Amino acid sequence: MLLDGKAVAASIRSEIADATSEFIATRGVTPKLAAVLVGENPASQVYVRNKQRACDAAGIGSDLHRLTADCGESELLRLVTTLNHDPSVHGILVQLPLPDSIQSQRILQAIDPNKDVDAFHPENVGRLVQGKPRFVPCTPQGIQQLLIRQKIETSGRRVVVIGRSDIVGKPIACMLGNRGVGGDATVTLCHSRTINLNAIARQAEILIVAIGRPQFVGADMVKPGAVVIDVGIHRTDEGLVGDVDFDAVAPLASAITPVPGGVGPLTVAMLLQNTLRAAQLANSE
Ligand code: NAD
Repeated sequence: MLLDGKAVAASIRSEIADATSEFIATRGVTPKLAAVLVGENPASQVYVRNKQRACDAAGIGSDLHRLTADCGESELLRLVTTLNHDPSVHGILVQLPLPDSIQSQRILQAIDPNKDVDAFHPENVGRLVQGKPRFVPCTPQGIQQLLIRQKIETSGRRVVVIGRSDIVGKPIACMLGNRGVGGDATVTLCHSRTINLNAIARQAEILIVAIGRPQFVGADMVKPGAVVIDVGIHRTDEGLVGDVDFDAVAPLASAITPVPGGVGPLTVAMLLQNTLRAAQLANSE
């Protein structure tokens, strides 16, 4: 089965559009995202444009704040502080990666945790680990929603996550191991120092791959009947490919996400979800 992230994302986006118009009607406030783009990274420009278009389609406002690559940490921090104090802004997104001259962690920690729609602030990471999230990071939330909505049971199942990034690997491993719907799994987190990676990956009933290496996972790493979630995105001469060798793995898997059209569209949908949630939290009685 092909796990059609695009279709699932479309239905989530339409739910968010409905919830947004109801929120605007009852509260008289339009949820707004402030996106910050530093420098001219072409992929980042595409990502930010897609996020703004998606906001627009859902009835969520969005502003783009552009800084040059040589702006320096203090100018970026000043902008974040201004956005933190602007009551019309509910969500703040600083598009990563930032130029090497800027320490990303310092910027992410400066964002008001109540406006932290990427959920990278230590307070929000801590809440997620405790199973009491305020915001859930977008890509892992998209993966979990895909599993829930495609009725793929996680409870009691053996999950292997390959990749331990703060953005994908660590939070998804934590979320699937937490109690509750879309959780309760037995999770193994693998990374570049893992020994016998192939053998561990082959134990997975659900295999989640976020390593950033094109078509790294082949048929020898997948148990027949496994569900395979491919987070990777790589531009090649033949178009976009993931971290999984799709042609080799698809015949073995019971379900698999394509690239493009798998996890990517869900990430954007979840950003909308978090922005609406931020506006709801700011305007709750
Ligand atoms: P990252 O580069 O920050 O981290 C990669 C992780 O993979 C590291 O923890 C490393 O230990 C592990 N790793 C690297 N080589 C390995 C190997 N040979 N064996 C085992 N583990 C290995 O990655 P990231 O930010 O999580 O991104 C991963 C991929 O997902 C990238 O292709 C990125 O573009 C993509 N991505 C997609 C989305 C989306 O919305 N679809 C979102 C975020 C990232």
